[in-house]
Amino acid sequence: MEAYITLLTNNSYASGALVLAHSLRATHTTKQLAILVTSAVSRPIRDRLTAVFDAVIEIGELNSNSTANLQLLGRPELGVTLTKIHIFNQTQYSKVVFLDADTLVLRNVDNLFGTAANGSIAEGEDRNKRFAAAPDAGWPDCFNSGVFVCRPSYQDYTGLIEMADQQGTFDGGDQGLLNSYFSGWSTGDSSNRLPFLYNTTPTSVYSYAPAFQQYKDKLNIVHFVGSFKPWQWLRFADGAVFPRNTSSKDSITLVQQWWNVFDQYIGGKPS
Ligand code: UDP
Ligand code: MN
Repeated sequence: MEAYITLLTNNSYASGALVLAHSLRATHTTKQLAILVTSAVSRPIRDRLTAVFDAVIEIGELNSNSTANLQLLGRPELGVTLTKIHIFNQTQYSKVVFLDADTLVLRNVDNLFGTAANGSIAEGEDRNKRFAAAPDAGWPDCFNSGVFVCRPSYQDYTGLIEMADQQGTFDGGDQGLLNSYFSGWSTGDSSNRLPFLYNTTPTSVYSYAPAFQQYKDKLNIVHFVGSFKPWQWLRFADGAVFPRNTSSKDSITLVQQWWNVFDQYIGGKPS
């Protein structure tokens, strides 16, 4: 079984997870949709999730009781980082495409499952890749951990926890840890590297505007990184997003696309 999986650690990203799921359904994906939730996610939110995800999976806190020989108790700062690591423990799935809850899928990306994961190989061919991800716009020798393809395995799951326990994470989050663990990513087999079009951050609209103009019709997955998420934008009564000081026309368009999915499947257009 193969699945798209996202993660919800609290209620505040719930609309992100719902929009993501509906955006995936709209691509007529043939894969399962699953979401990992912590105990902090409320019952009403879970009911909404159940309506669109095939599986809502509760994950517990990782601590030294849950995983042998690890001294994670007394390291609360690792708790949040390790939450995403639960993906590697979902061995009921043979292959997973993980997506942050602040991503939006614009076209069918099921080819991420069938192939070398970068979509360049004929559908159906399976190179059995362990891990694939797209470059981070801030430091392209690192991958961005908001979108990745993996094969869940207990070995990687415990290996990641062990590494977190022993050396922590260089950026304080899961991205640093995953980059340390899959450290051959930038120089190894090119099929581990997904095109940036599978994890396009709207911040690139400013940092490389001509490239955005060239490629904007080819985006597969948009990732709204940063502290200000689409669901936090104000809107006019007709549903148009209220431009923020710093926002360019193109980044507004992407946020508007997120809201269009919200309106169509979740909220209904304001009247
Ligand atoms: N997350 C969550 N609630 C939070 C923070 C994070 O559910 O309060 C989950 C969610 O899936 C989110 C992911 O963890 O997409 C990573 O966090 P975020 O996307 O905020 O990081 P960024 O991509 O901005 O670096
Ligand atoms: Mn994110």
